[in-house]
Amino acid sequence: MHTLASPLTVLSGIGPARAAAFARLGLQNLGDLLRHYPRGYVYLGAITPLAEAPADTKCALLLTVATAPVVHTVRRGMVLLKFRAYDDSGTAEITYFNQSYLKTAFEPGQTYRFWGKVERVGAKGNRFALSSPAHERWEEDKPLPDLIPVYRLTEGISQKQMAAAIAGAFAACGEEITDPLPAEMRSANTLCLRSFALREIHTPSGMDAIAIARRRLAFDEFLTFSLGLAISVDRRRAHTAPPCPDADISPLLAQLPYALTGAQTRVIGEIAADMASDEPMSRIVIGDVGCGKTVCAAAAMYIAVKNGRQAALMAPTEILARQHYADLAPLFAKLGIECRLLIGAVTAAEKRKIKTALACPLDRVRLPVIIGTQALLSDGVEFAAPGLIVTDEQHRFGVGQRAVLAEKNRGAHLLVMSATPIPRTLALVLWGDLAVSRVDEMPPGRQVVDTFCVDERYRARLNAFIQKQVDEGGQVYIVCPAVEEQEQDEEALSLDELLAEQAPPRPPLKAAVTYAADLAAALPDLRIGFVHGRLPSREKGEIMRRFADGELDVLVSTTVIEVGVNVPNATLMIIENADRFGLSQLHQLRGRVGRGSRKAFCVLVSDATGDEARQRLSVMCREHDGFAIAEADLAQRGPGDFLAIAGSDTLRQHGETHFRVANLAEDTALLEVASAAARSLLADDPELDAHPLLRDEVSAMFTPAPDVLN
Ligand code: ADP
Ligand code: MG
Repeated sequence: MHTLASPLTVLSGIGPARAAAFARLGLQNLGDLLRHYPRGYVYLGAITPLAEAPADTKCALLLTVATAPVVHTVRRGMVLLKFRAYDDSGTAEITYFNQSYLKTAFEPGQTYRFWGKVERVGAKGNRFALSSPAHERWEEDKPLPDLIPVYRLTEGISQKQMAAAIAGAFAACGEEITDPLPAEMRSANTLCLRSFALREIHTPSGMDAIAIARRRLAFDEFLTFSLGLAISVDRRRAHTAPPCPDADISPLLAQLPYALTGAQTRVIGEIAADMASDEPMSRIVIGDVGCGKTVCAAAAMYIAVKNGRQAALMAPTEILARQHYADLAPLFAKLGIECRLLIGAVTAAEKRKIKTALACPLDRVRLPVIIGTQALLSDGVEFAAPGLIVTDEQHRFGVGQRAVLAEKNRGAHLLVMSATPIPRTLALVLWGDLAVSRVDEMPPGRQVVDTFCVDERYRARLNAFIQKQVDEGGQVYIVCPAVEEQEQDEEALSLDELLAEQAPPRPPLKAAVTYAADLAAALPDLRIGFVHGRLPSREKGEIMRRFADGELDVLVSTTVIEVGVNVPNATLMIIENADRFGLSQLHQLRGRVGRGSRKAFCVLVSDATGDEARQRLSVMCREHDGFAIAEADLAQRGPGDFLAIAGSDTLRQHGETHFRVANLAEDTALLEVASAAARSLLADDPELDAHPLLRDEVSAMFTPAPDVLN
């Protein structure tokens, strides 16, 4: 008998190679498969007679094969498979391209369900044709499902293979699915059983069932999440933190090339007051991109160190961690404070050294400051004298990691930095335990970044503008969103893909590569760097470093998150296909320029002609305040899109998100219900001793993922 923890290789048809492909999706055991929920469904329930098939949309047809399939070789590399099939209303000629292996798939006299677009041919339009329709064998006594799930895939796995593996997992251990929810909580919230939810999400009996299943699974995610956060907060409250009363930061201020703004001074004062107490600080610093949150964090870290404690700063990506390190290490060095960088790319020997230095019992040799990624969460990173933990949640909800780090260092003060304005209900749950400080003032001399929307006709002028900026000593960012970055088009739920026998090939990098090559050809004198999601992190980091050090004039990047760096010399931000981004994200990107003394520009390139897209982009040309833009974003797009952009798209790519089903924006009511349920559960059972299954799920959700992020 297999269990949810059994490896995928126990399933027939899955050997080591295929298991490795599944592992790329984070699927290691049978339980993972059951939790690999579809990203959508295609409805095939309504069968359309051939004669009534609409001209421009795909539909489901029930056709009986009339003639044996015949293979025609048209030319080299082009093979057609043809046959005829009929229903009561007519006969269609069916053609498959380069799929001669389907020759034996269709038997004359046998009925199949097809899915495709019906073309009308012949002078009278009374003959029909279908090309490469998806197909399934239809048997009288074995009804086909109306709703076909569509899964997130990877190279080497097709939809059919994924569905078969999941069915295999149910057969092997479906009996084992237990329900961790107390029955009263289930009935009080009208939730179905987990086993029912899992079956219906994968093999739905109807739309209603999907909704019921989804609600249950989303509730579970929210409950687990709320439990984890609440437990970590309660445990922190039970601890005391080291008071850090010496808050004289004048030596630090003396090293800064600028004076603090009033807002920064106020925020640092709030932080210092918290840190003077032995009650652990839990504070968030919120402020628009570029307002100067980093120096507030630096001041807090300095105070911790001054009072004999250690400080850690955790960033969500390796590049941001490097950036913080590059900014802060020289500053701390001038103050005689040693600071190291701990990221996935650091050698094992260096990691060992850092860990030893952090845990060193001797005050004078102990490493006082560490900056890193979630590598800071890995085993063996222990602080001898934890004082302050700072997390930079810049563009994402790093709530889970924050909780883990705070949990590991219960007796430390906690400071969070965020630039993402989020709706109030969400803030209550995600940040409800945090006191808020706002940096609501920009450093002086920060100029408005003039923003323009252009289309493809401006290409030549745009290139000339790039050249001009560089000639004048500036640098240029170009963000070029590329479809190939695995951001599958959610609309492209096609059954062709769905029922294909073979897995889709990994989409090529072509668009972005071509773009970079064209640019290099158009601007031969410029030094152009190209960063994309598939580069190893070391190479990415090296290119970013060269751009930051002025060794490159132009940085073309396909991944947005990597752009979260500070290059004050950059004067121009070009965003290609700007209509694909949310406004808040455009604002974050634009915030990368205009940080120095030179006049800076942002150009949004878009060929979108729709009113909505135009109107959205025009907001960017008039508005320069992050919160106003976030509001416009919410108003125009609705919270769903807004949040998808605010972070979860990239999170999902890294398999790092806490929520597979739940949608933070759309399910806020459910989030509140689950959050209240978590509170009442913990009131009676603070450590979940009576609910071991729930406790296991909480610890699974809050266990840091392996450091694959970077
Ligand atoms: P963010 O809040 O987005 O993290 P940063 O902390 O990266 O912003 O600051 C953005 C830029 O502004 C940095 O180059 C930083 O040195 C500069 N800066 C911060 N505070 C001030 C200030 N008071 N006066 C002038 N420049 C400042
Ligand atoms: Mg920052």
